[in-house]
Amino acid sequence: MGQIHVYTGDGKGKTTAAFGLAVRALGRGKRVAIIQFLKPKPSGEVLALSQIEKFKPRLCLKSFGKNELIKKTSEEDFKEAGRGLKEVKKIFKSNFDLVILDEINVVIAFGLLDIKKVITVIESRLIGTNVVLTGRRAHLKILELADLVTEMRKIKHPFDRGIKAKKGIEY
Ligand code: ATP
Ligand code: MG
Repeated sequence: MGQIHVYTGDGKGKTTAAFGLAVRALGRGKRVAIIQFLKPKPSGEVLALSQIEKFKPRLCLKSFGKNELIKKTSEEDFKEAGRGLKEVKKIFKSNFDLVILDEINVVIAFGLLDIKKVITVIESRLIGTNVVLTGRRAHLKILELADLVTEMRKIKHPFDRGIKAKKGIEY
């Protein structure tokens, strides 16, 4: 039975941990799908994976969301979140070994997706599919559903000293 993993908390390392797992699975010949919410522009990790020809037949990369950070949720945010969930539904009908839902916890926390709907979709997956949900403020119901939960806890972050996100480190 496929497991459900959650990487949450306010410290750095959630998305990179999920991509690390994706690389591990790809190295073992597994089929991997990565659906990113709130990230329309590809980050370094997406650029790296999409350049590896050998992975193409068993790697699906999709991203949803608008460019700016969400301050107040807009109609477009809801639309993008809905489009993303529709894609997740489709992916779960196929036999992926690992599906990463990057930043979906944040989307749920913003109220852009209904928690019940998300859980129904996760539970609809094929029996062997493992799922990873990343993002801060994971919903209690997601934590209850999960087999594994890791909290990245911030002890220090350069951001606190006013240092901006760096290309190749943060994105
Ligand atoms: P990464 O993508 O590096 O693994 P993450 O997924 O844990 O980090 P998110 O919570 O998704 O981090 O945050 C998005 C961005 O904010 C990333 O560029 C990340 O490096 C940065 N970040 C992570 N933790 C903090 C923090 N405590 N304060 C400020 N920025 C942070
Ligand atoms: Mg992240």
